[in-house]
Amino acid sequence: MYNLSLHEIRKGLLSKKFSSLELTRCFINRIEKFCDLNAFITVSADLALESAERSDKRIADGKSRGLEGIPLAIKDLFLTKGIRTTAGSKMLENFIPPYESTVTSRLLGAGAIFLGKTNMDEFAMGSANVTSYYGRVVNPWSRDKKLVPGGSSGGSAAAVAAHLCVAATGSDTGGSVRQPAAFSGIVGLKPTYGRCSRYGMVAFASSLDQAGPMTKTVRDAAILLKIIAGYDEKDSTSFTEEVPDFESFAGKSIKGLKIGIPKEYRIPGMSEEVIDFWEKGAALLKDAGAEIVDVSLPYSKYALPAYYIIATAEASSNLSRYDGVRYGFRAGGLTLNEIYENTRAEGFGDEVKRRILIGTYVLSAGYYDAYYIKALKVRKLIRQDFISTFEKVDVLLTPTAPTSAFAFNEEPQDPITMYLNDIFTVTANIAGLPGISVPIGLDKLGRPIGLQLLAPHFREELLVQVGAALEEAANFPSLKEMGR
Ligand code: GLN
Repeated sequence: MYNLSLHEIRKGLLSKKFSSLELTRCFINRIEKFCDLNAFITVSADLALESAERSDKRIADGKSRGLEGIPLAIKDLFLTKGIRTTAGSKMLENFIPPYESTVTSRLLGAGAIFLGKTNMDEFAMGSANVTSYYGRVVNPWSRDKKLVPGGSSGGSAAAVAAHLCVAATGSDTGGSVRQPAAFSGIVGLKPTYGRCSRYGMVAFASSLDQAGPMTKTVRDAAILLKIIAGYDEKDSTSFTEEVPDFESFAGKSIKGLKIGIPKEYRIPGMSEEVIDFWEKGAALLKDAGAEIVDVSLPYSKYALPAYYIIATAEASSNLSRYDGVRYGFRAGGLTLNEIYENTRAEGFGDEVKRRILIGTYVLSAGYYDAYYIKALKVRKLIRQDFISTFEKVDVLLTPTAPTSAFAFNEEPQDPITMYLNDIFTVTANIAGLPGISVPIGLDKLGRPIGLQLLAPHFREELLVQVGAALEEAANFPSLKEMGR
């Protein structure tokens, strides 16, 4: 039963084919059995088993809610009341939140069971889950060589792909839901900026961060999105926009829809196999009745540099709260300044320090106009590019990442090459658009490849509709047993 989709699990629970307690036990055993994947930072087995018992009772009493008894994994940057939340950092190693994030409280309110908190790049900064203080995550698709799962939501991606949970949450600031989904052969959906509340998510870059579901199927992503989306008075950037029944769009015909193929997404250095699968994806959608249209997004090439200016600027400000005084890790020192300095020197890893340095630099008096303000102007142009393109097409189809997952120790050594992983995903965050990554096939080395669909603001239902059609046509294999 562990490899069923959320949709099937929901049916199985309601028809009493299996109980939530059996299901929860099964996942806890698998988490132990595959602990070498290092997908979880904290496993909350006892709490999960207790909630599963309560859910079984509700099901028996005919009082079940939308996700009653369904075991999920939660990225370790959603604050979970009473359960340690580290954001992948030493800085928050012993941090037990006194309150619940809106996203997780909505999931709990729908009856979901939390198995634990998943590993991630430190403060969500990374594309390979190599910056976590709690160690690397292994991509369950690894065969002869260990592969990275992508990042920063690498633990969530690995947990879903390896069937250690039914589905998981991730967060996406520049691609952290979609890129690990692509690397790990699962579905990842990043909603429109403002669709989901950011209240209680450890902040990285507040104008870009969004929570999103990571699931085995497009339909499952639609089910979770419906539950976590919607206005929240605790997040002033959350939108009052109505939340449609996304699930009803999975399986709807895509006849007559226009799919744009942006030529700027063909870049030097990308894998030939990724290009082939991109073409195949377009052909599959055409066979399903869609019209393929070539489009151009001329400002796309400036998205990555703009992202690494805006994201770092916001991060440097957001991370200033970790001073060793209010909460989290504290190092010793004789003066207040010494405490600040030692805390931040010992508490943050190298990548986080690099981002803080870049961020404070681009915001400094002498460079503010040259970098930060310029990046904001570029952001506006990129957004405009998309808005005018969406007058001609319904959705865009691109690769999610330029390559498939890379092996441990074969990852880019210099940070800039690592940042190139995000080249196709950051545009959606810069423009605030929703995007989804859907697995399309395996390359010659047996590594998953994902394609990305982008839709206009608040049109996630189009991602579900076209994503489900693509998924059905691609017939991507779910990961079977992992040889243990
Ligand atoms: N890989 C990107 C970065 O390191 C995106 C991270 C994210 O979306 N959280 O900034």
